[in-house]
Formats: sequence, C-alpha cells, structure tokens
Amino acid sequence: MKSIRALTFDLDNTLWETDESILIAEEAMTAHLRSLTPPAWMAEFGLEAFRAVRKQIVEERPDIAHNLTLVRHETLIRWFENQGATRSIAKNLASEGFRVFYEERQKVEPYPGTVATLEILSKDYPMGAITNGNADLMAMPLGQYFQFCLQAQHFKKPKPDPVMFEEALKRLNVEPNECLHIGDDIEHDVIGAKQSGMRAVWFNTHAVIPEEDAPADYTITTLQELIGILKQPG
Ligand SMILES: [Mg+2]
Repeated sequence: MKSIRALTFDLDNTLWETDESILIAEEAMTAHLRSLTPPAWMAEFGLEAFRAVRKQIVEERPDIAHNLTLVRHETLIRWFENQGATRSIAKNLASEGFRVFYEERQKVEPYPGTVATLEILSKDYPMGAITNGNADLMAMPLGQYFQFCLQAQHFKKPKPDPVMFEEALKRLNVEPNECLHIGDDIEHDVIGAKQSGMRAVWFNTHAVIPEEDAPADYTITTLQELIGILKQPG
C-alpha cells in the first residue's frame, strides 16, 4: 500500500487485552474505597451494583456517556450519596476511587509481537492512536512510537463519529485515503474510518468468524501481518 503515508491505531483489544486489566483495576479501586469508608457504605458494593448505578447515570446523562472518566466519577458520587455521604465527601471518595482505578488501568500487557511491530512501523510512518477508552498511551512505554493519542472523553463524540478521525488526519497532515486505521471493532474502527474516507484494517483479535464480511480493506489476526500488507502494491 504505497499510497499509505500514516497510520492510526485503536488501543483496547487492538494493542492489548483490556477486560482483564479493567477487572483488576476495579478490584483495586474497591479495596481502596473499603479502606477509606465505614463498612456499611461498601457492604453492597460489587461489579453488578456498580454497573446498575452506572446505567442510571448514563441514562440520565447521555451527553457524558462516552466520557468514561466522568461516568465513573459520577457513578461513585451517586453510590456514596446513596449511602448517606454528603456531596463533598462523596466527591472526594469518587476522586480517590478513580485515581486508583486509573493508575491500575494503565498497567496493560501488549499482545505478543506488538512492541516489535510498532517499532518497525514507526520508522516508516507517523502514527497516532484513537481510543474510546481512557488508556493513557503517551504515559506508557508504547507511547514512544506514537505522535499523539486522542481520547473520546476530550471530544464531542466517540468513534465511529468522524470527529476524532478528522483531528488525527489534521495532526498527521495527510489526506484521508493516505491514512490506514487499524482496530478490533467493526463499527467503531472499520466503519468509522471508512466513513471518514480512510482505509481500514480489521484486527480480528480473537479470530472470531464474522456473521458477514467485514467492510475492511484487510483483515488480520496478528499485528505483525500489517508489515506485509503495507509492502503490497496499491
Ligand atoms: Mg478496541
């Protein structure tokens, strides 16, 4: 793909497995909050209870639904207010809980071969990251291969909306068809990038058999395959 001059990558479940790190982060957050509060406040707290409150928050505030940082803060505030905490105590606890969650959430393990592949690609292409999550790529060792990381929480809308793709193209200073986006989510990554005029690789991370053909230019099951694809003519 000689006409490709820049690359953008999704992060979660594209460069690393996310679910595990989120669960560990949730546990660390819970343990920390238990250490700060009367036992009764956290007696009922668990993944399901947390998700039930989060669902309420998202229903009440669709405007912040894509801002996972804000949603988590608001969910924790509501939880502690429901336990009888004052607003200011609830806010402090939410900040503490989020701080521990966020710190743990960044401890991700790249998929095998990811570091080597990014190192090779970054020599030939400027690269950006576009995520709907709140991974802080630029604070990680992997960040050294990237020019920037765009997080949905800083934009009006998450992927597949064009807003982040357009910002990435501007920063990479390339035309849409000169940029290849790589991601695991067909709607957010493949359809989103294609709608912005970019080309797209579907990273079929878990090698699932799709119900219908992915509307991607290429499909890969390991990141290393990208190196060969980029060498192809066209
Ligand atoms: Mg993803």
